Amino acid sequence: MRIPFVAGNWKMNTTVTEAEILVYTMLEELDQIVGVEKVLCPPFVSLVAINIMLQNSSIRLGAQNMHFEARGAYTGEISPLMISEQCEYVILGHSERRWAFAETDEMVNKKIKAALVNRLIPILCVGERLEENEAGKTEDVISRQIRSGLQDTEPISDLVVAYEPVWAIGTGKAASGRQAAATIGFIRNTLAKLWSKDIAQDLRIIYGGSVTSANVAEFISQQEIDGALVGGASLKSEEFLSIASQTSVIKSKLL
Ligand code: PEP
Repeated sequence: MRIPFVAGNWKMNTTVTEAEILVYTMLEELDQIVGVEKVLCPPFVSLVAINIMLQNSSIRLGAQNMHFEARGAYTGEISPLMISEQCEYVILGHSERRWAFAETDEMVNKKIKAALVNRLIPILCVGERLEENEAGKTEDVISRQIRSGLQDTEPISDLVVAYEPVWAIGTGKAASGRQAAATIGFIRNTLAKLWSKDIAQDLRIIYGGSVTSANVAEFISQQEIDGALVGGASLKSEEFLSIASQTSVIKSKLL
């Protein structure tokens, strides 16, 4: 059985004080939402403070990125070793990293391996750009991102994969539930071929791209979709709480 998974990617938003206030306003209620794994991914500088706030709660902490080396002359970078002292999860291969910071599949693969060495659970993001979607290349792109990103790794039983079509991120134009479920089904098949059917069947594969409290039900009610990676809407406590609680209610009925 796959435990539903909802993560908030705060991107480059919130000062440490703002991050603390955001967590403070939703901590108690979010903590009480059952049957869903809840993960917050604030900016690096807030990880220590938020980690302290989340102690003794059911809410997990994730980082938004990391370098693949443990330490060294990489000015401005954050290492897996540093992240692993604070977090359980790390988002890797987010499209904003791929397209705004020229991250390649090879770099994502190195980061996945570094995450595993440091006992971090990767949330691997994959997704096609608009022109790739329109050219019918969605499956080719995603298959390449999965196979290259996970190249030469043993099966990762707790891996989370986020299908995030680039055209849906931060645009307010979400995919449809059926569209997202079909691509997520393709991702599961790809993972089944790469590792095994049993492993793929147990992996959480979630959708991301303009998810809000108003549309989350469309995604979550699809059997294939195990949760959501939420950007903009995760910066509003009432939105994120609603997304997590709708996920809890809808998924409990589907089981
Ligand atoms: C994201 O950053 O992963 C994301 C899905 O953003 P948004 O929800 O704002 O589209």
